[in-house]
Amino acid sequence: MDTAKQVSVVTGGAGFIGSNLCEALLTKGHAVYCIDNLLTGSEKNIEQLKSNPSFTFMRWDVTNEFPVLPKIDYIFHLASPASVADYQKYDEETALVNSMGTRNLLKFAKAYQARFLFTSTSEIYGDPKEHPQKETYWGNVNPNGVRSCYDESKRFGEMMVMLYSRKHRLDARIVRIFNTYGPKMRKDDGRVISNFINQAIAGHPITVYGDGTQTRSFCYVADMVEGILKAMFTDAAKGEVINLGNPEEYTMIDLATKIQSMTASSSEIVHTDLPEDDPVRRRPDITKARKLLEWEPKMSLDTGLAQTIAYYKSS
Ligand code: UDP
Repeated sequence: MDTAKQVSVVTGGAGFIGSNLCEALLTKGHAVYCIDNLLTGSEKNIEQLKSNPSFTFMRWDVTNEFPVLPKIDYIFHLASPASVADYQKYDEETALVNSMGTRNLLKFAKAYQARFLFTSTSEIYGDPKEHPQKETYWGNVNPNGVRSCYDESKRFGEMMVMLYSRKHRLDARIVRIFNTYGPKMRKDDGRVISNFINQAIAGHPITVYGDGTQTRSFCYVADMVEGILKAMFTDAAKGEVINLGNPEEYTMIDLATKIQSMTASSSEIVHTDLPEDDPVRRRPDITKARKLLEWEPKMSLDTGLAQTIAYYKSS
């Protein structure tokens, strides 16, 4: 590892957003430690990066105390199952990586005087009563429902980050990631865009849960990575909580129709049961990210979906 370079640690670095982030950091000239226990991440996502001498992969579960590294300047903490299907399958692991794992990494950041970024989630708003969601909204979360392993552990993680920021004056920030999609998203992760595209390509029924009037707003992964980098490298983001996402809002039935037509699929659209505690509406207010980070997403849904469809067709 070349420690003359800026050194970044990315936990969850073999995951969907994490692997895209590792690639962007290498392009920026950083040395990167990619940490992942491969519970939901995949070495396939980082295969291309392994030949880069500035890239080191460590298979490690961050709920364990961290190994000693020579130097660390930045810690990006992304490790956690993140799709609804994944975090319900790995509920306890999810609860622990966002609570114990976050505390371990904060202690580590303090020891190394490293700058810290925690990836929280729009899920901390629960089924929101305020629309669109601003960072000042405290949320409407079921504290012990089927999604609580994720929602509540991310809320605990946020608390721990702010505690270290206030008590230990750690240079830390929190980003709340809204629905994100794009290449390297696992085909079977159960998310709506991966499901719809892969169902449409295979000619299987496109499964809209409930009547499909629930809404989401989708951010392309390259835009998300740019937002995460800006949140880390903007001094004024210290101690702040910032929404990152694309404010264009779609119903799931419109999304299904769009993907059906873009893939020229013969698949029919079917309606199945709505999962428990599925939020009715979600759209980020990104005024703060626009002002503080001078960031906003650039990729339209049509172009982003076309790139994602091409990725799945070729993988
Ligand atoms: N959804 C759907 N069909 C699917 C997968 C998801 O209609 O095959 C819906 C789901 O009920 C939710 C939205 O799409 O309203 C987004 O689901 P996802 O699991 O991608 O993310 P969430 O925003 O719920 O974390």
